[in-house]
Amino acid sequence: MHPPAHIGPNAITRVAEALDALSTSAVKVRLFEGAGLSRYLINAPQAPVPETEVAALHSSLFNELPEQEARRIARRAGELTASYLLAHRIPKPFQALLRVLPPALRARLLLGAIAKHAWTFAGSSAFSYRVQGWQTRAVRIHMRIAHNSACSGRRTDTPSCEYHRAVFERLLNALVAPIAVREVACCACGASACEFVGARSAA
Ligand SMILES: [Zn+2]
Repeated sequence: MHPPAHIGPNAITRVAEALDALSTSAVKVRLFEGAGLSRYLINAPQAPVPETEVAALHSSLFNELPEQEARRIARRAGELTASYLLAHRIPKPFQALLRVLPPALRARLLLGAIAKHAWTFAGSSAFSYRVQGWQTRAVRIHMRIAHNSACSGRRTDTPSCEYHRAVFERLLNALVAPIAVREVACCACGASACEFVGARSAA
């Protein structure tokens, strides 16, 4: 058997930060223990982690907490991840270049860069995307994570990759245009892929 693919540590460390901000330390300990990751409470991971650990923590979140609370924490973790990427991982000259281009072109360049680094959030799962519409007002984005490993062990009635949705939405809002992202299909609901659609919000 192959060892599991690895994912950037944000998918774990930002959940811990979101729990610090929105929940209690007792809940945080229970979730990390439930996922078999209590060692990360002492030493937060600094390097990529097995994707199975990310799935364990994110399913622990949804299995242990009321769904709305789990979603709120996952969303905050995604926003914190995007903020970290904007501050430390997406080169400033690239960000400056995007600002002077039309939104549809910005979207294509940004999603190309995201696709190049897809292992950091998708692990062994394949990431693909489409950008439709060249007119400023009509840009529409479709993103897909096939057989999303982060959904392993999580079952919900409606799409629940709030973490990924929030990462995409905050990055697109910061670097492309006001874009609302919805998850329209999800492996946690039995779909073969998590699918996200981004369209310009009314703002
Ligand atoms: Zn999903």
